[in-house]
Amino acid sequence: MAAHVIDGEALAAELRENVEASFGDVVEAGVRPGLATVLVGDDYSAQAYERRLRRLAEELGCHYASEVLAPDIEEADAFAVIGKLNADPRVSGILILRPLPKQVSEGHIYRTLDPLKDVEAVHPDNAGLLALGQPRFVPSTPASVFFMLDRYVEDSGRDPKTFYNGLDLVLVGRSNNVGKPALWLGLARNATVVSCHAYTSQAGRLPDHMLRADILVVAAGVPGIVTGEIVKEGVIAIDVGINAVKDEETGKTRIVGDLDFESVAAKAEAISPVPGGVGPITDVWLLRNTIEAARYRARL
Ligand code: NDP
Repeated sequence: MAAHVIDGEALAAELRENVEASFGDVVEAGVRPGLATVLVGDDYSAQAYERRLRRLAEELGCHYASEVLAPDIEEADAFAVIGKLNADPRVSGILILRPLPKQVSEGHIYRTLDPLKDVEAVHPDNAGLLALGQPRFVPSTPASVFFMLDRYVEDSGRDPKTFYNGLDLVLVGRSNNVGKPALWLGLARNATVVSCHAYTSQAGRLPDHMLRADILVVAAGVPGIVTGEIVKEGVIAIDVGINAVKDEETGKTRIVGDLDFESVAAKAEAISPVPGGVGPITDVWLLRNTIEAARYRARL
């Protein structure tokens, strides 16, 4: 079977068009959405993400602000920066980029966010609403995974409202920003969801779970952790992983996912590539949430 390769760039372009088209009421109400990012230190990937968001925000006509904090910042000083952004009327959405240094606890700093500006749903109020199936904001990466899945299902002539009913959706990775919210989104679609993590691999049980997956979403940050040998014929496989690896032949660094693309594609019904898969959709989704946040604020 030759897998259908899902084109994340095309889906991102389509989502962007929808976002731009639905922006009108906000502009007419005299509201300009604004995104603020908070970057602590100089992590290369976080800096690259920040630059992409800045460009996209500016292209969409949003206000954009970035706070770059020293890696040795005291936690209380980082909280003060969030407090300032919470109070800034030009800012409708705030993104705290990861990784954070040890002295700044994710759990603590997320609680300082104004929940109405928490566009990645990391504040306990928003994470809780998502778990209850009543999301205020759906975090960008898992939202993009399901946007991609729903669109693929629809384009292949099936109904995304019923397609997932009772299917085995197996997740690899249970982080608060990707794996756990993906679990809630899968349950909301009536899938039977299995959450695998590092201890699943340590126990040697990953292949057992992979082999029964109808839909597979891999977000472990381990290049090639899932190979064709351990997936079912006809699986729909979504790769969230972004890993920089050195090509042994050329010595150059390249970006790969968590799926062993060739071997999984040989058995899959559909597969998302890295790069060009979930990543580009994620950026647009974050701006979409920022515009939603501006809409909430303006009570539109
Ligand atoms: P985290 O490091 O926060 O979480 C990784 C998860 O994978 C953990 O739950 C961990 O298990 C699990 N894991 C690690 N090793 C294994 C293993 N050998 N077997 C099974 N599970 C394992 O990462 P994130 O969730 O933030 O990101 C995951 C990947 O997705 C990364 O490559 C990241 O770059 C990428 N990413 C991509 C985005 C995009 O837009 N496309 C956005 C965000 C992330 P445990 O909990 O037991 O430690």
